[in-house]
Amino acid sequence: GYRARSAYKLKQLDDSANLFTEGDTVVDLGAAPGGWLQVAAEKVGPRGKVVGVDLQRIDDLEPHQVTTMRGDMTEERTRDRLRRELNAEEGEGIVDTVISDMAPNMTGEYELDHARSVHLARIAFETAQQYLKPGGDFVAKVFQGRDLDDLREEMGESFQYVRTITPPASRDASSEVYLVGKGYTTAPVSEGE
Ligand code: SAM
Repeated sequence: GYRARSAYKLKQLDDSANLFTEGDTVVDLGAAPGGWLQVAAEKVGPRGKVVGVDLQRIDDLEPHQVTTMRGDMTEERTRDRLRRELNAEEGEGIVDTVISDMAPNMTGEYELDHARSVHLARIAFETAQQYLKPGGDFVAKVFQGRDLDDLREEMGESFQYVRTITPPASRDASSEVYLVGKGYTTAPVSEGE
């Protein structure tokens, strides 16, 4: 079984957006307790590599292709550790898929929770821009609200296309959606001003 029900969300996202191929390298942000790590490890198989990061400790996972680290992705030193783990220079295309299920601690204040989730999604997007290979894919959870369209538009400049997906398993958490960027491209699809 899976460590978290959220595993089914990632399976559904993969069913509709085809995120993983055997042998892929995957970065999973906000990975505790590890449901998405388990699904990603299955999908990429023993020749793949999955790196998970979370504020919380993640209990060891069986598949040897999974490594985890405890840290705050809003802090530079965590991002540095991730870079060392990936053994990459910034801007070097080395990762096939970046997935983020990071979520802030909920205050119940709708605007604040939304803004914080967009901030975490932007950090994940920056990580994607640093490490994705051309053609790579990106997924980030975000709570619905007024900044969603802006983020989606920014992503549109770096991916062939962007979809907003609400997996059936998300239905009970009504305000969460997943932004999915397909086909990372370093040449901007449309230039800003
Ligand atoms: N996808 C996970 C799974 O399948 O097991 C569930 C992730 S849970 C919904 C969201 C996670 O985001 C929490 O474990 C939380 O600690 C993490 N998180 C929130 N802010 C973070 C940050 N700044 N850096 C790293 N992880 C963060």
